[in-house]
Amino acid sequence: MAERITGHTELIGLMAYPIRHSSSPAMHNEAFAYLGLDYAYLAFEVDNSTLEDAVKGLRALKMVGSNVSMPNKTVVGQYLDKLSPAAELCGAVNTIVNEDGVLTGHITDGIGFMQALKDNDIDVIGKKMTIAGAGGAATAIEIQAALDGVKEISIFNIHDKFWANAEETVRKINEKTNCKATLYDLDDKEKLREEMNDSYIFVNGTGVGMKPLEGMSVVPDKSFFRPELIVIDVPYSPLETKMRSMAKEVGCKTMNGLGMMLFQGAAAFKLWTGKEMPIEHMKEVLN
Ligand code: NAD
Repeated sequence: MAERITGHTELIGLMAYPIRHSSSPAMHNEAFAYLGLDYAYLAFEVDNSTLEDAVKGLRALKMVGSNVSMPNKTVVGQYLDKLSPAAELCGAVNTIVNEDGVLTGHITDGIGFMQALKDNDIDVIGKKMTIAGAGGAATAIEIQAALDGVKEISIFNIHDKFWANAEETVRKINEKTNCKATLYDLDDKEKLREEMNDSYIFVNGTGVGMKPLEGMSVVPDKSFFRPELIVIDVPYSPLETKMRSMAKEVGCKTMNGLGMMLFQGAAAFKLWTGKEMPIEHMKEVLN
C-alpha cells in the first residue's frame, strides 16, 4: 500500500456508521491495484450529525466521490447538486460522483441486482416479478426493475413501518414508468401463491433468512415453488437461506445476494473511474 500511494493518488470514501465491518474498501482497493489505477478507497465513520460536513469535505478535498450507507442513504440527497433518475425515485443515494465540483447522487443497488441477473443468464425484461420487501434493498430493486423494462411487479410486505414506503414506491412506479406495480399483504399467503405462480421470478428483498431472522422464510413451504420459477435472495449471509434450500429441492434456479453486492460495487466503480471492475478476478477474491 505504502508503495502505491503517491501525491497523485485520488481519494474515494465510504460514509456510514457503523462501517468498520464493510467489505467495500477491500473490494475496491483490490480492483484498483489489479488494474493499476491510482485511487484509494477509505471508510469514514459518518452519521447524520456529521454528514453535511463530510460532504463539504468531499468537495473541498476534490475527492472523486464516495459510497454512502446507513444511516445516510436517505438523508444525503439534500447536500448534493443532482440526483440520477433512480436515486430520485428511490429517495436514496449510495454513490456520490464529483465531476468538477458538481456532486451527483446515484443508487447502484438496483443496477447491481439487474446486472447480477444478466450475469446468471436471467432475462426478466418484459416479464413479471414478485418480490417481498419494501426497505432499502427491495425499493432499489423495484425501481430499477421498473425503469429497465420489467412488465409487472407484485410487491408483498408485512404491515410494519415500511408499508407506507411500499405504497409510495407502487405509486411512483405506476406514475413514472411503463411497469404495472401492485402492493399486497405478505400475510395473505394465498395471494402470494397466486402471484408467484404467475411470475417468472420471485425475489426475497427482506432481511428474513439473515440474522436475527436466520432459519425463517417469507415463503411458507415448498408447495409455493415450481421448477421453472427463478428464486432470488437479497441476503448473502448465510450464503444459503431456508428459502433457497426449499427452492433448490423443488429444482428452481436460485441466486443469493452476493452478485448484487458485487455488481452494485462494480457500477459505482465505473461511475468513478470510467473503467469496468475486473469481475472474474473479484469473484475469485470474494469467494
Ligand atoms: P431494511 O431494514 O431497509 O428493510 C427490511 C425489510 O424486511 C422490510 O421490507 C421489512 O418489512 C422486512 N421485514 C423485516 N422483518 C420481517 C419479518 N419478520 N417478516 C417479513 N418481512 C420482514 O433492510 P434492507 O437494507 O432493505 O436489507 C434487507 C436485506 O437485504 C438484508 O438482509 C440486507 O443484508 C440485504 N441487502 C443486500 C444487499 C446486496 O447487495 N445483496 C444490499 C442491501 C441489503
